[in-house]
This record gives sequence, C-alpha cells and structure tokens, in this order.
Amino acid sequence: MDGIWIDVDLDAVMANFTEVMNHLRPGARCMAVVKADGYGLGAIEVARALQAAGCEAFAVTKVSEGLILRQHGINGIILVLGPTGQQEWTEAIQAGLHITLAEIASVSGLEEICRQLGCQVNVHLKLETGMGRTGLVPGNLARLAHCLNEAPHIQVVGAYTHFARAAQRDRNYTRTQYEQFQTGVAELTKYGITPSWLHVCNSAAFLDYPEWHHDFVRIGTLLIGHYPASDFAGKLKLKDPWVAKSRISYVRRVPKGTYVGYQSIYRTKADTQLAVIPVGYADGFGVEPHLIPQGWVDFLKIILKNFLALFGVYLGQERVIHNGRTVRVAGKIGMQLTVLDVGLSECAPGGEVIIPLRRTIANPRILRVYWKDGRIFCKRFLEEGISYFHTEIS
Ligand SMILES: *Cc1c(COP(=O)(O)O)cnc(C)c1O
Repeated sequence: MDGIWIDVDLDAVMANFTEVMNHLRPGARCMAVVKADGYGLGAIEVARALQAAGCEAFAVTKVSEGLILRQHGINGIILVLGPTGQQEWTEAIQAGLHITLAEIASVSGLEEICRQLGCQVNVHLKLETGMGRTGLVPGNLARLAHCLNEAPHIQVVGAYTHFARAAQRDRNYTRTQYEQFQTGVAELTKYGITPSWLHVCNSAAFLDYPEWHHDFVRIGTLLIGHYPASDFAGKLKLKDPWVAKSRISYVRRVPKGTYVGYQSIYRTKADTQLAVIPVGYADGFGVEPHLIPQGWVDFLKIILKNFLALFGVYLGQERVIHNGRTVRVAGKIGMQLTVLDVGLSECAPGGEVIIPLRRTIANPRILRVYWKDGRIFCKRFLEEGISYFHTEIS
C-alpha cells in the first residue's frame, strides 16, 4: 500500500439509495448522478453497486463518462447533463446515451447524424430557468418545437431544469424557477412536444419539495452520504461510505520550542512527538474550494481567521484521527508530506490515521479500496478509468 488509500463502502452507497427510494413519491424514480467519477468515489463501482440495488437511471456530465459506464456494464438510462459536441454524438448515440438538448442549433446536426446512422436519439430538453448556465430560454420554445417537429430521429423523452439555490433553501427563487419550468413545459405541449419524463429535483429539492419529484429525481450528494448543506443533516438516515486513511511513516521525539515545516509557522508548545504521514496537498489534503461568504457572520469569521493567522494563531487548522484521538497538523501541509503533533501518547510507524479528504478533489491516483459485505471487493485507481479517457483536443 502506498501510504494513503481510500476505503469506499459499497454497502453504504446501496443503503443510501434504498433510503432515497423510501422517500420517493409513488411513480418517481431515482436517477443517480455519478458525475466527476462518482463524486470521487469511483463512478464504475458506485454505478454497478447502484444498478445491483435496482437503480435504472444514471447521469453524468460528459459523453466520455457515459461511455465508460456503458463499457462497464451499466445498461440503464445514462443521461449526459453537460454540453456535448458534434464530434462526440456518433459515439454517444451508438452507445445509447441520452443527450441533453440545450440549444436549438444542435437539432439539425443531431438529426443528420441519426439519419446517417439509421437510428434514433433520446434527448432531454434542458430549460434555463435561473441557473444561468446552459439551457433553452422561454422565448425560443416555439422555434425549438418547430425544428423538433421536422426531426423524426430525435425522441424528446425528457424535460428538466436545475435549481441554483435549493441548497440555500431560497424558496422564492426556487419556486420561481419551478414555475418557469412548468410554463415552459406547457408551452412545449401546446406546440406538440410532450416529453414523457419531467425531472427537476437535485438532493436539496428532493428533500424540501416532495411534490416536485415528478418522474425522476437526480440525486448525487445524498447517495455518497452527504447532505446538500448542514441544515439538512438528519433528514435521512445516511451512511458515509468514505474513509481516507494513511499510515505514519516516521516518528520523532522533540523538545518544546521545535519549529515545524515551511515558514516555521508552528512551534511545539511542550515536549512531544512529531509524526510524518505521506499525504499532502497534491492528494487534495487541506485544499478547500474558494468559498463565498454566506452573509455577514460568515464574512467576519473569515476576516477574524486571517487576522489571527497574522499573529500566529491558526483557527481551522486541519486535524486527523489517530487511535481514536483527534490530532493536530503541525505547520503547513506540504506537497506530499504532513507533520502531526501527536503528543506523548503511544505512536509508532505503521499506525493508521484517518484524514479528512474532500471527495471530489481527492487525487484520482489514490487507491480506492472497495468494500462489500464486510470484505474487500476490489481495488482500483480512478485514473485508469475516467480521467485519462480520450477526449479530443483540437
Ligand atoms: C450535480 C447535478 C445534480 C445532483 O445534485 P446533488 O445536489 O449532488 O444531488 C442534479 N442535476 C444536475 C443537472 C447536476 O448537475
């Protein structure tokens, strides 16, 4: 073992799926979102486990992600949520992927490729209602319908939209988005386009608006055992399938007043032991996304944190777990090495440490160890699968 690995409990993923299913409106189904390589857990194993648990529909961002799933035995619906390019359509259509149609300009190209291939493509219309990213805008739906009615190879099987503020529980904004979606669907129906399936809910909306479950809910976050935001905690009984672990590679006793790491920002306050783990920011440890303060309190916290750091007081310093105890990181996290101040308790090379590692940015080169029925099921690096899968760069 390479000194760092991630245990992924597939039973926990399956249990989370069952928990979501138990809260679904009758008639609605769960579309498992396994984009970004299954939020870092590994899309192939996660999708296979979910398929075994009865999941019939999956969603990813890119065509390359969808193709990988097909090649690895996922035979249900696979919807590509993100933008797709003409050069990917043939492969996507042949693999039976569902494509998101977010631009009228795509209709003629898609139709032409299908005609040449002699087959149909299933598309989901993405309506833009307030996310400001991609999607068909209301004013254009008549023209869209006109183009679609001339495109016999394009089957409109779905229509959907995506909420921008569901996790923040902004009910006004979310309701406005939903109403715009409904208006759009009604307009499409008027022009003869009737998608069989409607879907609007992500994890947050699934929890807050059961009346909007429609035909599918698109769930990612909950399946991997997280809540969309902290105030959703406890709304479902979720299991966390993810534990990142490392082994201590080196331990040394040092006196009080020893400087540790780059810039010597840490100095031991007493005689202690320093333990080195082979984990650093190259693995994603201590790397946080750039967060926008959510209100004034949050803003003041950020200011205070930076202010204190100027005087050598580090709030929010990373912590790890060793022998069931919380242990501080001493000083700056290095590229591939980190020092822990473990105190004077029992500590030896080879000892296991649990590391808080953000899932979606955990390095794909860290070995994922999959557990099923309480035993190791398989081990895999993610990069063999999705990250290095061919994408044409032109
Ligand atoms: C990521 C994503 C989801 C899943 O969102 P979660 O909050 O992780 O459940 C659903 N729909 C779209 C379009 C997405 O991009």
